[in-house]
Amino acid sequence: MIIVLRPHSTPAQIDHILERIQELGLRSHLSRGELRTIIGVIGDESKLQAEPLSALPEDSVVKVGSVRVGGGFMAMVAGPCAVESAEVLDGIAGEVKAAGANILRGGAFKPRTSPYSFQGLGEEGLKILRDAGDKHGMPVVTEVMDPRQLDVVSRYADMVQVGARNMQNFDLLREVGQTDRPVLLKRGMSATVRDLLMSAEYILAEGNHQVVLCERGVRSFEDSTRNMLDMSAVPNVKGQSHLPIIVDPSHATGRPDLIPAMARAAVAAGADGVHVEVHNCPEKALSDGPQALLPAQFSGLMEDIRRLAEVVGKTIS
Ligand code: PEP
Ligand code: MN
Repeated sequence: MIIVLRPHSTPAQIDHILERIQELGLRSHLSRGELRTIIGVIGDESKLQAEPLSALPEDSVVKVGSVRVGGGFMAMVAGPCAVESAEVLDGIAGEVKAAGANILRGGAFKPRTSPYSFQGLGEEGLKILRDAGDKHGMPVVTEVMDPRQLDVVSRYADMVQVGARNMQNFDLLREVGQTDRPVLLKRGMSATVRDLLMSAEYILAEGNHQVVLCERGVRSFEDSTRNMLDMSAVPNVKGQSHLPIIVDPSHATGRPDLIPAMARAAVAAGADGVHVEVHNCPEKALSDGPQALLPAQFSGLMEDIRRLAEVVGKTIS
């Protein structure tokens, strides 16, 4: 295994890694270059994967279709909460693409609090999502709730989402870890940052290194917002992991009046993208209508984000 260190890793950090490698019974070979320092690790590398030693390697870039996420590239994920029909999705997809989104979202298997609420269109929804993504030139992400759905979801989706409710569904994490699909792993509503990173390790340990984390708020006593957005999770994760992290202000706040400010704050905090629910008729939406941005609101937000991206030196590809 090769560990590529961040350009400004200190000698103390490098020594710490070398010591840890030795403690794990592995051998290391340090190579200091002008531009980067590399550690070659010899031995059973699965021992390393169980360690959050991910502390220091360079930021990973995850490819979703042709879109790069991380390492200076931002994901602008947008779309309705659920795929409702080809017509509705086609309209929303066209608008978010025109505004600057680069990944289309839409749930076909929906985790609903009530079993009587709309549960998603299943495979029919996946087909509709795929067609809309192809037509409007965006890779697509959609949620998988159960290992039994994984085959069909990976057949249609460019990226699979593991939602907050399943962040610690370890069998599901292992299964997505065995696919070649990039994974959007959302923080559980009562999970710590460490819990989130350890859930990511389940996926990485199976050999799938294409993981993007997502902060989407945690439960708190505050009842004027849907969840409490933990913006510090962004730099917190970045200090401990090479994985990209994006922010979902839609599920975090549940309020369209707060989403733009929180999306801008996310970019300023160093997030590798945002994840926003958009609907062209929120009052008729079959799920999460009250938190959806209208396409025009999303478009205004994207203008701000493009300006902020320049300030923080990031690219939306
Ligand atoms: C979603 O993205 O549609 C969703 C259900 O999000 P979360 O898992 O964060 O609640
Ligand atoms: Mn939703």
